[in-house]
Amino acid sequence: MSGRHFLQIPGPTNVPERILRAMDRAVVDHRGAELPPVVFEIVEGLRRTFQSGDGAIALFPASGTGATEAAVVNTLNPGDRVLAFNSGAFSHAFAEVARRHAVEVDEIELSWDRGVPPDLIRDRLRADADHTYQAVLVVHNETSTGATTDLAAVRRAMDGAGHPAMLIVDAVSSLASLDFRFDEWGIDVALAGSQKGLMLPPGLGVLCIGERALRRAEEVTTPRAFFDWRPVLKEMERGYFPYTPATLLLYGLREALRMLDEEGLLRVFARHHRLADAVRAAVRAWELPVQCREPAECSHTLTAVVVPEGIDSDAVRRAAETHFNLSLGAGLGRLAGKVFRIGHLGALNDLEVLATVAGTELAMTVAGLRVPVGAGVTAAQQVLLEQLLSGSR
Ligand code: PLP
Repeated sequence: MSGRHFLQIPGPTNVPERILRAMDRAVVDHRGAELPPVVFEIVEGLRRTFQSGDGAIALFPASGTGATEAAVVNTLNPGDRVLAFNSGAFSHAFAEVARRHAVEVDEIELSWDRGVPPDLIRDRLRADADHTYQAVLVVHNETSTGATTDLAAVRRAMDGAGHPAMLIVDAVSSLASLDFRFDEWGIDVALAGSQKGLMLPPGLGVLCIGERALRRAEEVTTPRAFFDWRPVLKEMERGYFPYTPATLLLYGLREALRMLDEEGLLRVFARHHRLADAVRAAVRAWELPVQCREPAECSHTLTAVVVPEGIDSDAVRRAAETHFNLSLGAGLGRLAGKVFRIGHLGALNDLEVLATVAGTELAMTVAGLRVPVGAGVTAAQQVLLEQLLSGSR
């Protein structure tokens, strides 16, 4: 099909030309003199992105799940108790990684249509008077439902309960797109992947680690080899790695961090907010519900659109792919066939969002949904125009 492919799944996201060019180079000697300046610049850039002054940065040639496993094996022992929440496919997967390492996981079942209520965390921690929970596991932005958890409120809830549990956060689909304040929110470990807000291909697991978690890693006895972050941190201090790193991705990451710096994090967050508002205005014009029922918690990085009973959401995805070269995200887990997801994160601008909305309208119509064709595009255009003309951007 001629023209460009619209990769509007909620990650991997579009990789900008500039990043592709930065990776399009001969592979370097990963034990030579070229690598350390790249690594040092990356560490500083990632700290800024996590909004951490001196968080330790560890990189693994892995996907986000690898970073999750690293967070678990370095901070938790078999038999430790943790508090986790099943509010979507990824929060459940987070709990499952801990469970596979014999951690005792109290996984609270929630409806898959909102973030984790901070009050619930406060109440659970208050009830744990003996402080048996070692950690609370939270997904910042649940990519399967499009619901964001308010981490500032989670921190307040944990402080309010006076509980010392660590706060371990999955920031896979929020980092570099949503405001993420590692230091201010007292996060102990945050984990992410390269393929979403960082605008890179998949392949890098990224962690930011606080002082307490670093100490904890020295004490835990959980067997770990590849995902032991201690040798990684030690080598990264010298600009190297204990394994063969994904060298070309590192060049791409350096470029991505430079781009984020040039745009400015605040503007990056504002752009994601604006594009999300435009997409949701379109969905309202289609008279379809979004999976996240709490407007204040609707994600700025993706929107899960609920299709009417009797329609298979995968039919919309198939029509989008077949006829319009547009990829939309599938419904995951219990939402399979019920929702499709529009990714609006990473390298993305107004016109790309409008084209995505237009393609989605066409695909829905082909798949048998009765939506007013053009209404979504008009609604999204109005939001974008209003913001521009009111001077709010
Ligand atoms: N956590 C969240 C919130 C995600 O969105 C994803 C992937 O989409 C993951 C974890 C798993 O990451 P990966 O697929 O890179 O292993």
